[in-house]
Amino acid sequence: MVFETIRYDVREHVATITLNRPRVRNAQNSALLLELDAAMHRAADDPEVRVVILAAAGPAFSAGHDLKAVVGEEAPDAWRRLRATPEGRLRHERELYFEKCLYIYHLPKPTIAQVQGACVAAGLMLACMCDLIVAADDARFSNPVLRMTGAGVELLVEPWELGQRKAKEFLFLGEPIDAREAWRLGLVNRVVPRRRLAEETRALARRIAALPPITTALVKESINHAFDLMGKEHSFKYHFMLHQFMHGTRTAQQALAARRRTGSIAAMLRERDRAFGAAPAELPRPARGRTRRGR
Ligand code: ZN
Repeated sequence: MVFETIRYDVREHVATITLNRPRVRNAQNSALLLELDAAMHRAADDPEVRVVILAAAGPAFSAGHDLKAVVGEEAPDAWRRLRATPEGRLRHERELYFEKCLYIYHLPKPTIAQVQGACVAAGLMLACMCDLIVAADDARFSNPVLRMTGAGVELLVEPWELGQRKAKEFLFLGEPIDAREAWRLGLVNRVVPRRRLAEETRALARRIAALPPITTALVKESINHAFDLMGKEHSFKYHFMLHQFMHGTRTAQQALAARRRTGSIAAMLRERDRAFGAAPAELPRPARGRTRRGR
């Protein structure tokens, strides 16, 4: 399989999977999610691979799901066409978002998200599927989807990552958390200078790769199981169904219709944020226009 939206590389027992749609800040469309899933399977199946790094090209880790592909004017793919009915939307989100995220969460090898710049909504959900997160000092984590009427994204990671009270503040206000605050809250393991992000993440990966694979696999499974006993996966499932219910509400349907009327996602997001004062939102940039280059 030749990848177009990601890069895949294995060196010294470390597989690096790089989200590679930098012009749209690695917005996750169907192609990217399917290729990411294929790459994760490849890493899981390759006995040479002991640790997986999930990185991202360009200035941002990920702006979240590609709204343009889901509700914009782009020609719909088969997944988007499913969204015409509630049962189709359930299937789309369960198979493409929910199950593929949990596959990463349960990957029988240690995973490290390497995060720079904006890490928004489904970008945060994706990073949180990894075992460790190394953040650049310019990383900013946010989830402004409540401003778009969404009941969070498909997997509600915030209670587990931030604690109950912070999770509510984070979601209700939609304001970004910077790298230092993310470290203080335990959302990320380390904060490193942006220019050293890749090498620091790699150094960490290589240390973990020195452990026997069966040891890391079993300890990862045990820690995941401990959180499962606290209800983590059941809470994910419960939230996922609430999230589905929200999609079907009149509130969400009206927001979707308004979004389609404005035509442009950027215009819709400006409209969305008007009521929320000066708080800067992390917005996915429209696909057309200038190329933004990474440092
Ligand atoms: Zn959804």
